[in-house]
Amino acid sequence: MKSDAVMGGDIGGTHMRIALVEANGNLLHSSKTATDVRAGAVDVVNRLILQCREVMAVAARMKRSVSALGLGIAGKIDRLGGTILFSPNLPSLARYPLVEVLGAALALPVFIENDADSFGMGENLLGAGRGIPNWIGLTLGTGVGGCIVLGGHLWRGDDLGYSGEFGHMVIDPNGPECACGLKGCLEAHASSSALKNGIRELIACGELRNGPLHEAWIAGSLTSEQIHRQAAQGDILAARLFHRLGWALGLAIAGQFSALGIRHAVIGGGVSNAWDQFITPLKQSLNAHSSMLRGEEAVVLRTELGDKAALIGSAYLAGLQLSQPVMETNRIGTILRKSPQP
Ligand SMILES: [Zn+2]
Repeated sequence: MKSDAVMGGDIGGTHMRIALVEANGNLLHSSKTATDVRAGAVDVVNRLILQCREVMAVAARMKRSVSALGLGIAGKIDRLGGTILFSPNLPSLARYPLVEVLGAALALPVFIENDADSFGMGENLLGAGRGIPNWIGLTLGTGVGGCIVLGGHLWRGDDLGYSGEFGHMVIDPNGPECACGLKGCLEAHASSSALKNGIRELIACGELRNGPLHEAWIAGSLTSEQIHRQAAQGDILAARLFHRLGWALGLAIAGQFSALGIRHAVIGGGVSNAWDQFITPLKQSLNAHSSMLRGEEAVVLRTELGDKAALIGSAYLAGLQLSQPVMETNRIGTILRKSPQP
């Protein structure tokens, strides 16, 4: 038998991806299936179990043993208790004993993480963040996720189930409504949902009356990739949405750089493919909103691992939990749990 491998997963509202990853982060195999978000928790978990078993069968053919499963999931994650507290993509899994059920079905130790933290660990190990001790990560997808890496480690805060939630920092109290219920969050400016809502608003106010984006919106098939393509082809209204996205990101990153005394950020997620459309306004905004840092000192990097980052990161974090079960953050988490409520 060759060395152990760990399964790493990225569980999103659209797809569930499971990979087989070596201890050094080398990705041996990955599989992807559609997530049926309308299905109940039991259906979602049963599909996930089948997918994991298929990957374990691939591992057996490669003569690899699988030592653990790590999953990155969007939302508020009780990684120590093994449950999802809240997930915007998978509401049916809230409070479901995910780790317990998967662990029993697969006969493996299972660990869950926030997906942006998994992204951060992947980029930290092998991607754009390697060799940079302190940085923040932002993942631009359906929503906006985030992570904080300090001294080469993920910052867990008080282990309340979230940290680095830049997506829900209010950057304009009069801005568009966010899925979380607040107004003007970063997510309401800088996600694929924000881009699509931007097209909806342009149609509602009569500025966008025809063309491919108008048609796609009416047909219910509009995607952020399509908005990017139109912007790249010179559509001024589409380009304006990416300008707003860059402005919002620059403002948010400037605040974090000032607060943390750091100067590196890594941006990933599907919407980061529209880099050409937002990086210039992002840098202008970052410069304009930085009082402590000169513009040329700030470094904003694009993901190097793309959609592999969260797979590699969640596998690595699971392997870490396996080898160091009592981490400092765990101890802090345990102490917090025992504290009387204020
Ligand atoms: Zn929000």
